[in-house]
Amino acid sequence: MRLSPDLVRSLPAVALHDHLDGGLRPATVLQLCAELGIAPPPIPPARDADGGTDVPGGAEAPTAQDIAEWFHTAADSGSLPAYLSTFDRTVALMQTAPALQRIAREFVEDMVADGVVYAETRWAPHQHTAGGLTLDAAVQAVQDGLDEGVAAAEAAGSTIVVGQLLCYLRHLDPSDDLVDLAIARRDTGVLGIDLAGPEAGFPASRFAAQFSRAREAGIHVTIHAGEADGPASIADALDCGAERIGHGVRLVEDIDADPGATSSADDMAGETAGGTAGGAAGEIAGGATGDAADGAAGETAGGAAGETAGGPAGAPTSTQGSASTPTARFGPVAARVHREQICLEVCPSSNLQTGAAAELSLHAVGPLHELGFAVALSSDNRLMSRTSTSREMTLAAETFDWTLDDLEQVVLTGLDAGFAPAATRQTLRKDIVLPAFRATREQSAREQSARGQSAGEPDAREPGPRGQAAREPGARGHAARES
Ligand SMILES: [Zn+2]
Repeated sequence: MRLSPDLVRSLPAVALHDHLDGGLRPATVLQLCAELGIAPPPIPPARDADGGTDVPGGAEAPTAQDIAEWFHTAADSGSLPAYLSTFDRTVALMQTAPALQRIAREFVEDMVADGVVYAETRWAPHQHTAGGLTLDAAVQAVQDGLDEGVAAAEAAGSTIVVGQLLCYLRHLDPSDDLVDLAIARRDTGVLGIDLAGPEAGFPASRFAAQFSRAREAGIHVTIHAGEADGPASIADALDCGAERIGHGVRLVEDIDADPGATSSADDMAGETAGGTAGGAAGEIAGGATGDAADGAAGETAGGAAGETAGGPAGAPTSTQGSASTPTARFGPVAARVHREQICLEVCPSSNLQTGAAAELSLHAVGPLHELGFAVALSSDNRLMSRTSTSREMTLAAETFDWTLDDLEQVVLTGLDAGFAPAATRQTLRKDIVLPAFRATREQSAREQSARGQSAGEPDAREPGPRGQAAREPGARGHAARES
Protein backbone atom coordinates (compact mmCIF):
# COMPACT_ATOMS: atom_id res chain seq x y z
CA MET A 1 0.00 0.00 0.00
CA ARG A 2 1.14 3.47 -0.85
CA LEU A 3 0.02 6.63 0.89
CA SER A 4 -1.30 8.10 -2.32
CA PRO A 5 -2.51 11.70 -2.52
CA ASP A 6 -6.07 10.41 -2.85
CA LEU A 7 -5.76 8.23 0.21
CA VAL A 8 -4.23 11.01 2.28
CA ARG A 9 -6.93 13.40 1.14
CA SER A 10 -9.51 10.91 2.36
CA LEU A 11 -8.06 11.10 5.87
CA PRO A 12 -9.19 13.73 8.34
CA ALA A 13 -6.66 16.54 8.56
CA VAL A 14 -5.99 19.52 10.80
CA ALA A 15 -4.84 22.88 9.44
CA LEU A 16 -3.45 25.09 12.18
CA HIS A 17 -1.42 27.38 9.95
CA ASP A 18 -3.20 28.69 6.88
CA HIS A 19 -3.21 32.37 5.91
CA LEU A 20 -6.49 33.70 4.59
CA ASP A 21 -4.68 36.09 2.26
CA GLY A 22 -2.42 33.30 1.06
CA GLY A 23 -5.14 30.90 0.06
CA LEU A 24 -7.25 32.69 -2.52
CA ARG A 25 -8.40 30.61 -5.45
CA PRO A 26 -6.74 31.77 -8.67
CA ALA A 27 -10.16 32.16 -10.28
CA THR A 28 -11.26 34.32 -7.37
CA VAL A 29 -8.21 36.53 -7.82
CA LEU A 30 -9.21 37.09 -11.44
CA GLN A 31 -12.86 37.74 -10.64
CA LEU A 32 -12.10 40.17 -7.83
CA CYS A 33 -9.60 41.99 -10.04
CA ALA A 34 -12.34 42.44 -12.62
CA GLU A 35 -14.96 43.46 -10.06
CA LEU A 36 -12.71 45.92 -8.28
CA GLY A 37 -11.01 47.31 -11.38
CA ILE A 38 -7.59 46.19 -10.22
CA ALA A 39 -5.04 44.95 -12.76
CA PRO A 40 -4.19 41.29 -12.34
CA PRO A 41 -0.58 40.31 -11.72
CA PRO A 42 1.69 40.83 -14.69
CA ILE A 43 1.58 37.72 -16.79
CA PRO A 44 4.59 36.94 -18.98
CA PRO A 45 4.11 37.96 -22.61
CA ALA A 46 2.62 35.36 -24.87
CA ARG A 47 4.85 33.48 -27.25
CA ASP A 48 4.38 33.16 -30.97
CA ALA A 49 3.48 29.95 -32.71
CA ASP A 50 7.10 28.82 -32.69
CA GLY A 51 7.11 29.16 -28.95
CA GLY A 52 10.28 31.16 -28.93
CA THR A 53 9.61 34.83 -29.36
CA ASP A 54 7.61 37.13 -27.21
CA VAL A 55 4.65 38.58 -28.94
CA PRO A 56 4.65 42.36 -28.63
CA GLY A 57 1.85 43.58 -26.50
CA GLY A 58 1.98 40.76 -24.02
CA ALA A 59 -0.47 38.07 -23.18
CA GLU A 60 -4.14 38.22 -23.61
CA ALA A 61 -6.33 38.12 -20.54
CA PRO A 62 -4.66 35.82 -18.03
CA THR A 63 -6.30 32.57 -17.12
CA ALA A 64 -6.65 31.12 -13.64
CA GLN A 65 -3.76 28.85 -14.53
CA ASP A 66 -1.63 31.91 -15.37
CA ILE A 67 -2.53 33.41 -12.00
CA ALA A 68 -1.66 30.22 -10.16
CA GLU A 69 1.72 30.07 -11.89
CA TRP A 70 2.47 33.73 -11.32
CA PHE A 71 1.95 33.54 -7.58
CA HIS A 72 3.92 30.37 -7.24
CA THR A 73 6.82 31.64 -9.30
CA ALA A 74 6.90 35.06 -7.65
CA ALA A 75 6.80 33.53 -4.20
CA ASP A 76 9.48 31.02 -5.07
CA SER A 77 12.01 33.63 -4.16
CA GLY A 78 14.40 32.17 -1.64
CA SER A 79 13.69 34.82 0.96
CA LEU A 80 10.86 35.55 3.32
CA PRO A 81 10.56 39.28 2.51
CA ALA A 82 10.35 38.56 -1.25
CA TYR A 83 7.85 35.79 -0.62
CA LEU A 84 5.74 38.15 1.48
CA SER A 85 5.72 40.80 -1.26
CA THR A 86 3.28 38.67 -3.26
CA PHE A 87 0.68 39.29 -0.58
CA ASP A 88 0.34 42.88 -1.72
CA ARG A 89 -1.57 41.43 -4.65
CA THR A 90 -4.06 39.47 -2.59
CA VAL A 91 -4.48 41.95 0.24
CA ALA A 92 -5.44 44.62 -2.31
CA LEU A 93 -8.42 42.45 -3.23
CA MET A 94 -9.52 41.99 0.37
CA GLN A 95 -10.60 45.50 1.36
CA THR A 96 -14.37 45.09 1.23
CA ALA A 97 -16.73 43.05 3.35
CA PRO A 98 -18.12 41.04 0.41
CA ALA A 99 -14.63 40.11 -0.77
CA LEU A 100 -13.52 39.05 2.72
CA GLN A 101 -16.71 37.09 3.22
CA ARG A 102 -16.33 35.31 -0.11
CA ILE A 103 -12.70 34.40 0.51
CA ALA A 104 -13.50 33.12 3.99
CA ARG A 105 -16.35 31.02 2.67
CA GLU A 106 -14.13 29.58 -0.03
CA PHE A 107 -11.48 28.88 2.60
CA VAL A 108 -13.95 26.59 4.36
CA GLU A 109 -15.04 24.95 1.12
CA ASP A 110 -11.46 24.26 0.12
CA MET A 111 -10.58 22.91 3.56
CA VAL A 112 -13.52 20.51 3.43
CA ALA A 113 -12.55 19.38 -0.07
CA ASP A 114 -9.06 18.65 1.22
CA GLY A 115 -10.31 16.54 4.12
CA VAL A 116 -9.66 19.09 6.84
CA VAL A 117 -11.95 18.77 9.85
CA TYR A 118 -10.35 21.44 12.03
CA ALA A 119 -8.93 24.66 10.65
CA GLU A 120 -7.73 27.98 11.96
CA THR A 121 -7.41 30.75 9.43
CA ARG A 122 -5.08 33.61 10.22
CA TRP A 123 -4.88 37.07 8.79
CA ALA A 124 -3.91 40.60 9.77
CA PRO A 125 -6.99 42.83 10.04
CA HIS A 126 -4.85 46.00 10.09
CA GLN A 127 -4.07 45.24 6.43
CA HIS A 128 -7.72 45.33 5.47
CA THR A 129 -8.94 48.78 6.43
CA ALA A 130 -7.83 50.72 3.35
CA GLY A 131 -11.34 50.50 1.90
CA GLY A 132 -12.89 52.02 4.99
CA LEU A 133 -13.65 48.89 7.00
CA THR A 134 -13.11 49.05 10.73
CA LEU A 135 -11.13 46.21 12.31
CA ASP A 136 -14.31 44.82 13.80
CA ALA A 137 -16.23 45.02 10.54
CA ALA A 138 -13.44 43.22 8.74
CA VAL A 139 -13.39 40.46 11.36
CA GLN A 140 -17.16 40.19 11.16
CA ALA A 141 -17.04 39.86 7.36
CA VAL A 142 -14.57 36.99 7.67
CA GLN A 143 -16.70 35.40 10.36
CA ASP A 144 -19.78 35.66 8.15
CA GLY A 145 -17.93 33.82 5.40
CA LEU A 146 -16.68 31.15 7.77
CA ASP A 147 -20.15 30.64 9.21
CA GLU A 148 -21.61 30.41 5.73
CA GLY A 149 -19.02 27.84 4.71
CA VAL A 150 -19.51 25.72 7.81
CA ALA A 151 -23.30 25.79 7.42
CA ALA A 152 -23.00 24.70 3.78
CA ALA A 153 -20.59 21.93 4.74
CA GLU A 154 -22.96 20.67 7.42
CA ALA A 155 -25.85 20.75 4.98
CA ALA A 156 -23.76 18.60 2.66
CA GLY A 157 -22.95 16.13 5.42
CA SER A 158 -19.40 17.26 6.25
CA THR A 159 -18.14 18.32 9.64
CA ILE A 160 -15.56 21.04 10.05
CA VAL A 161 -14.66 23.33 12.95
CA VAL A 162 -13.05 26.64 12.03
CA GLY A 163 -11.90 29.77 13.80
CA GLN A 164 -9.90 32.93 13.28
CA LEU A 165 -6.47 33.95 14.46
CA LEU A 166 -5.73 37.67 14.28
CA CYS A 167 -2.16 38.53 13.32
CA TYR A 168 0.00 41.36 14.43
CA LEU A 169 2.74 42.12 11.94
CA ARG A 170 6.29 42.30 13.17
CA HIS A 171 7.32 45.34 11.17
CA LEU A 172 4.39 47.48 12.28
CA ASP A 173 4.08 49.32 15.55
CA PRO A 174 2.42 47.44 18.41
CA SER A 175 -1.06 48.61 19.32
CA ASP A 176 -3.64 47.29 21.73
CA ASP A 177 -6.57 47.41 19.35
CA LEU A 178 -6.10 43.93 17.96
CA VAL A 179 -5.77 42.16 21.28
CA ASP A 180 -8.75 44.14 22.53
CA LEU A 181 -10.70 42.91 19.53
CA ALA A 182 -9.62 39.32 20.14
CA ILE A 183 -10.82 39.59 23.73
CA ALA A 184 -14.12 41.15 22.67
CA ARG A 185 -14.71 38.44 20.07
CA ARG A 186 -13.46 35.45 21.97
CA ASP A 187 -16.90 33.88 21.92
CA THR A 188 -17.70 34.82 18.36
CA GLY A 189 -15.09 33.08 16.30
CA VAL A 190 -11.71 34.52 17.28
CA LEU A 191 -9.54 31.80 18.79
CA GLY A 192 -6.28 33.62 19.34
CA ILE A 193 -3.62 35.97 18.08
CA ASP A 194 -0.44 35.53 16.07
CA LEU A 195 2.61 37.49 15.02
CA ALA A 196 3.56 37.29 11.36
CA GLY A 197 5.64 39.23 8.85
CA PRO A 198 9.40 39.64 8.40
CA GLU A 199 11.09 37.90 11.29
CA ALA A 200 14.73 38.89 11.24
CA GLY A 201 15.28 42.27 12.86
CA PHE A 202 11.77 42.49 14.29
CA PRO A 203 11.73 40.56 17.56
CA ALA A 204 8.49 39.28 19.06
CA SER A 205 9.38 41.00 22.30
CA ARG A 206 8.41 44.32 20.71
CA PHE A 207 4.86 43.02 21.23
CA ALA A 208 5.45 41.64 24.72
CA ALA A 209 2.86 43.95 26.29
CA GLN A 210 0.17 42.88 23.82
CA PHE A 211 0.89 39.20 24.26
CA SER A 212 0.96 39.60 28.00
CA ARG A 213 -2.42 41.26 27.88
CA ALA A 214 -3.73 38.43 25.70
CA ARG A 215 -2.44 35.75 28.01
CA GLU A 216 -3.89 37.46 31.07
CA ALA A 217 -7.26 37.47 29.34
CA GLY A 218 -6.97 33.83 28.38
CA ILE A 219 -6.49 34.52 24.68
CA HIS A 220 -4.39 31.91 22.93
CA VAL A 221 -1.11 32.90 21.32
CA THR A 222 0.91 31.45 18.48
CA ILE A 223 3.89 33.23 16.96
CA HIS A 224 5.77 32.77 13.70
CA ALA A 225 9.39 32.11 14.67
CA GLY A 226 12.34 30.02 13.64
CA GLU A 227 11.57 30.51 9.96
CA ALA A 228 13.73 33.42 8.86
CA ASP A 229 15.64 33.68 12.13
CA GLY A 230 17.21 31.20 14.48
CA PRO A 231 16.55 29.57 17.84
CA ALA A 232 16.86 32.86 19.74
CA SER A 233 13.78 34.08 17.90
CA ILE A 234 11.92 30.96 19.00
CA ALA A 235 13.00 31.59 22.59
CA ASP A 236 11.80 35.17 22.26
CA ALA A 237 8.41 33.94 21.05
CA LEU A 238 8.13 31.48 23.92
CA ASP A 239 9.03 34.21 26.38
CA CYS A 240 6.14 36.20 24.93
CA GLY A 241 3.79 33.36 25.84
CA ALA A 242 3.52 31.52 22.53
CA GLU A 243 1.74 28.22 23.05
CA ARG A 244 2.63 27.16 19.52
CA ILE A 245 5.32 28.20 17.10
CA GLY A 246 4.62 28.97 13.45
CA HIS A 247 7.23 27.00 11.49
CA GLY A 248 9.96 26.70 14.13
CA VAL A 249 12.05 24.63 11.75
CA ARG A 250 15.27 26.47 12.52
CA LEU A 251 15.06 24.86 15.92
CA VAL A 252 17.33 22.28 14.32
CA GLU A 253 20.13 24.83 14.70
CA ASP A 254 19.85 24.16 18.42
CA ILE A 255 20.11 20.42 17.93
CA ASP A 256 23.34 18.57 17.45
CA ALA A 257 22.12 15.76 15.27
CA ASP A 258 25.34 13.84 15.56
CA PRO A 259 26.78 14.24 19.03
CA GLY A 260 29.26 11.53 18.24
CA ALA A 261 26.96 8.83 19.43
CA THR A 262 24.90 7.97 16.38
CA SER A 263 24.81 4.26 16.45
CA SER A 264 22.62 1.28 16.10
CA ALA A 265 19.87 0.71 18.60
CA ASP A 266 21.86 -2.07 20.17
CA ASP A 267 24.83 0.15 20.59
CA MET A 268 22.65 2.82 22.07
CA ALA A 269 21.16 0.35 24.48
CA GLY A 270 24.63 -0.57 25.59
CA GLU A 271 25.64 3.00 26.11
CA THR A 272 22.59 4.20 27.93
CA ALA A 273 21.51 1.14 29.82
CA GLY A 274 25.06 0.59 30.85
CA GLY A 275 24.97 3.93 32.50
CA THR A 276 27.99 5.21 30.72
CA ALA A 277 26.24 8.19 29.27
CA GLY A 278 25.67 9.88 32.57
CA GLY A 279 24.71 13.48 32.21
CA ALA A 280 25.02 13.33 28.49
CA ALA A 281 22.09 10.96 28.30
CA GLY A 282 19.85 13.73 29.43
CA GLU A 283 20.72 15.67 26.39
CA ILE A 284 20.08 12.86 24.00
CA ALA A 285 16.78 13.15 22.28
CA GLY A 286 14.14 10.94 23.69
CA GLY A 287 16.38 10.15 26.61
CA ALA A 288 14.71 9.50 29.89
CA THR A 289 16.80 11.77 32.00
CA GLY A 290 17.52 15.45 32.21
CA ASP A 291 15.52 17.71 29.99
CA ALA A 292 13.50 14.97 28.45
CA ALA A 293 12.59 13.19 31.65
CA ASP A 294 9.16 14.59 32.22
CA GLY A 295 7.04 12.07 30.45
CA ALA A 296 7.55 13.51 27.04
CA ALA A 297 10.54 11.27 26.92
CA GLY A 298 10.54 7.92 25.33
CA GLU A 299 8.12 8.95 22.69
CA THR A 300 8.15 8.27 19.02
CA ALA A 301 11.42 7.93 17.63
CA GLY A 302 13.70 9.44 19.88
CA GLY A 303 12.59 6.40 21.36
CA ALA A 304 15.58 4.25 21.12
CA ALA A 305 17.43 6.18 23.75
CA GLY A 306 14.39 6.79 25.91
CA GLU A 307 13.28 3.23 25.97
CA THR A 308 16.65 1.78 26.62
CA ALA A 309 17.60 4.33 29.19
CA GLY A 310 14.76 3.62 31.48
CA GLY A 311 11.66 3.68 29.32
CA PRO A 312 9.04 0.98 29.36
CA ALA A 313 10.74 -2.30 30.02
CA GLY A 314 10.60 -4.60 27.09
CA ALA A 315 8.93 -2.03 24.91
CA PRO A 316 9.73 -2.39 21.28
CA THR A 317 12.17 0.16 20.01
CA SER A 318 11.30 2.40 17.18
CA THR A 319 14.07 1.10 15.04
CA GLN A 320 12.15 -1.50 13.14
CA GLY A 321 13.61 -1.76 9.71
CA SER A 322 16.22 0.86 10.27
CA ALA A 323 19.87 0.31 10.77
CA SER A 324 20.35 3.20 13.08
CA THR A 325 18.31 5.59 15.12
CA PRO A 326 19.15 9.25 15.13
CA THR A 327 20.36 10.59 18.38
CA ALA A 328 20.73 14.24 19.12
CA ARG A 329 21.87 16.62 21.79
CA PHE A 330 19.52 19.49 22.51
CA GLY A 331 20.54 23.04 23.24
CA PRO A 332 18.40 25.00 25.69
CA VAL A 333 15.74 26.15 23.23
CA ALA A 334 15.27 22.73 21.65
CA ALA A 335 15.16 21.14 25.09
CA ARG A 336 12.48 23.59 26.18
CA VAL A 337 10.36 23.04 23.06
CA HIS A 338 10.71 19.27 23.45
CA ARG A 339 10.08 19.24 27.19
CA GLU A 340 6.99 21.42 26.95
CA GLN A 341 5.85 19.71 23.74
CA ILE A 342 5.31 23.07 22.09
CA CYS A 343 3.51 22.38 18.85
CA LEU A 344 5.48 23.37 15.76
CA GLU A 345 3.19 24.37 12.90
CA VAL A 346 5.38 23.10 10.12
CA CYS A 347 4.75 24.04 6.48
CA PRO A 348 7.41 22.32 4.37
CA SER A 349 6.60 23.59 0.87
CA SER A 350 6.51 27.18 2.05
CA ASN A 351 9.91 26.72 3.66
CA LEU A 352 11.37 25.61 0.35
CA GLN A 353 10.22 28.88 -1.21
CA THR A 354 11.53 31.16 1.52
CA GLY A 355 14.87 29.43 1.78
CA ALA A 356 14.26 28.00 5.24
CA ALA A 357 15.00 24.60 3.72
CA ALA A 358 16.93 23.72 0.58
CA GLU A 359 15.00 20.62 -0.39
CA LEU A 360 12.36 18.45 1.11
CA SER A 361 14.65 15.55 1.93
CA LEU A 362 16.72 17.99 4.01
CA HIS A 363 13.70 19.57 5.68
CA ALA A 364 13.65 19.55 9.46
CA VAL A 365 10.19 18.03 9.77
CA GLY A 366 11.51 14.49 9.34
CA PRO A 367 14.10 14.67 12.13
CA LEU A 368 11.86 16.78 14.38
CA HIS A 369 9.09 14.21 14.18
CA GLU A 370 11.58 11.40 14.60
CA LEU A 371 13.03 13.01 17.71
CA GLY A 372 9.65 13.33 19.37
CA PHE A 373 8.89 17.00 18.91
CA ALA A 374 5.22 17.93 18.61
CA VAL A 375 4.87 18.49 14.90
CA ALA A 376 1.73 19.45 12.98
CA LEU A 377 1.62 19.99 9.22
CA SER A 378 -0.07 22.84 7.40
CA SER A 379 0.10 24.54 4.04
CA ASP A 380 0.87 28.14 5.14
CA ASN A 381 -0.21 29.68 1.83
CA ARG A 382 -2.03 27.45 -0.57
CA LEU A 383 -1.95 29.97 -3.43
CA MET A 384 1.72 30.95 -3.18
CA SER A 385 2.91 27.41 -2.57
CA ARG A 386 0.37 25.64 -4.80
CA THR A 387 -0.29 23.19 -2.05
CA SER A 388 -2.82 22.01 0.49
CA THR A 389 -2.73 20.39 3.90
CA SER A 390 -3.19 16.90 2.49
CA ARG A 391 -0.46 17.56 -0.06
CA GLU A 392 1.95 18.54 2.69
CA MET A 393 1.03 15.33 4.51
CA THR A 394 1.55 13.30 1.35
CA LEU A 395 4.92 14.91 0.66
CA ALA A 396 6.14 14.35 4.20
CA ALA A 397 5.01 10.74 4.16
CA GLU A 398 6.73 10.12 0.84
CA THR A 399 9.91 11.86 1.79
CA PHE A 400 10.34 10.48 5.29
CA ASP A 401 8.68 7.12 4.78
CA TRP A 402 5.91 7.86 7.24
CA THR A 403 3.16 5.36 7.92
CA LEU A 404 -0.50 5.94 8.62
CA ASP A 405 0.46 5.99 12.28
CA ASP A 406 2.89 8.83 11.72
CA LEU A 407 0.23 10.82 9.89
CA GLU A 408 -2.30 10.10 12.59
CA GLN A 409 0.12 11.31 15.20
CA VAL A 410 0.74 14.53 13.29
CA VAL A 411 -3.01 15.11 12.88
CA LEU A 412 -3.69 14.42 16.57
CA THR A 413 -0.82 16.66 17.58
CA GLY A 414 -2.45 19.45 15.60
CA LEU A 415 -5.83 18.76 17.13
CA ASP A 416 -4.34 18.70 20.63
CA ALA A 417 -2.75 22.07 19.99
CA GLY A 418 -5.84 23.68 18.49
CA PHE A 419 -7.19 26.78 20.15
CA ALA A 420 -10.89 25.86 19.97
CA PRO A 421 -12.46 24.58 23.20
CA ALA A 422 -11.14 21.21 24.30
CA ALA A 423 -14.56 19.55 24.24
CA THR A 424 -15.03 20.50 20.60
CA ARG A 425 -11.65 19.09 19.63
CA GLN A 426 -12.21 15.98 21.72
CA THR A 427 -15.41 15.29 19.84
CA LEU A 428 -13.58 15.55 16.53
CA ARG A 429 -10.91 13.20 17.80
CA LYS A 430 -13.34 10.61 19.07
CA ASP A 431 -16.01 10.76 16.39
CA ILE A 432 -14.00 11.45 13.26
CA VAL A 433 -10.21 11.30 13.41
CA LEU A 434 -9.63 8.07 15.32
CA PRO A 435 -12.37 6.08 13.56
CA ALA A 436 -11.20 7.25 10.14
CA PHE A 437 -7.58 6.25 10.69
CA ARG A 438 -8.68 2.97 12.23
CA ALA A 439 -10.92 2.21 9.24
CA THR A 440 -8.17 3.11 6.81
CA ARG A 441 -5.72 0.84 8.57
CA GLU A 442 -8.21 -2.00 8.52
CA GLN A 443 -9.01 -1.42 4.88
CA SER A 444 -5.36 -1.35 3.90
CA ALA A 445 -4.75 -4.51 5.91
CA ARG A 446 -7.57 -6.24 4.04
CA GLU A 447 -6.16 -5.09 0.72
CA GLN A 448 -2.73 -6.22 1.72
CA SER A 449 -4.08 -9.58 2.70
CA ALA A 450 -6.04 -9.92 -0.53
CA ARG A 451 -2.95 -9.25 -2.51
CA GLY A 452 -1.26 -11.98 -0.59
CA GLN A 453 1.72 -9.80 0.14
CA SER A 454 2.46 -9.70 -3.54
CA ALA A 455 6.05 -9.31 -4.49
CA GLY A 456 7.46 -5.84 -4.64
CA GLU A 457 4.83 -4.34 -2.41
CA PRO A 458 6.66 -2.95 0.55
CA ASP A 459 5.28 -3.42 4.01
CA ALA A 460 7.06 -0.38 5.29
CA ARG A 461 4.00 1.79 5.08
CA GLU A 462 1.79 -0.54 7.01
CA PRO A 463 1.39 0.00 10.70
CA GLY A 464 4.01 -2.08 12.40
CA PRO A 465 6.21 -2.20 15.40
CA ARG A 466 7.53 1.24 14.61
CA GLY A 467 4.09 2.78 14.72
CA GLN A 468 3.17 0.86 17.81
CA ALA A 469 6.29 2.00 19.51
CA ALA A 470 5.23 5.55 18.89
CA ARG A 471 2.09 4.82 20.84
CA GLU A 472 3.74 3.43 23.89
CA PRO A 473 3.32 5.34 27.14
CA GLY A 474 4.72 8.78 26.75
CA ALA A 475 3.57 9.19 23.17
CA ARG A 476 1.27 12.03 24.12
CA GLY A 477 -1.45 9.63 25.18
CA HIS A 478 -2.91 9.02 21.76
CA ALA A 479 -3.12 5.29 22.13
CA ALA A 480 -4.64 5.58 25.57
CA ARG A 481 -7.26 7.95 24.38
CA GLU A 482 -8.08 5.81 21.41
CA SER A 483 -9.11 2.86 23.49
ZN1 LIG B 1 2.68 31.65 8.12
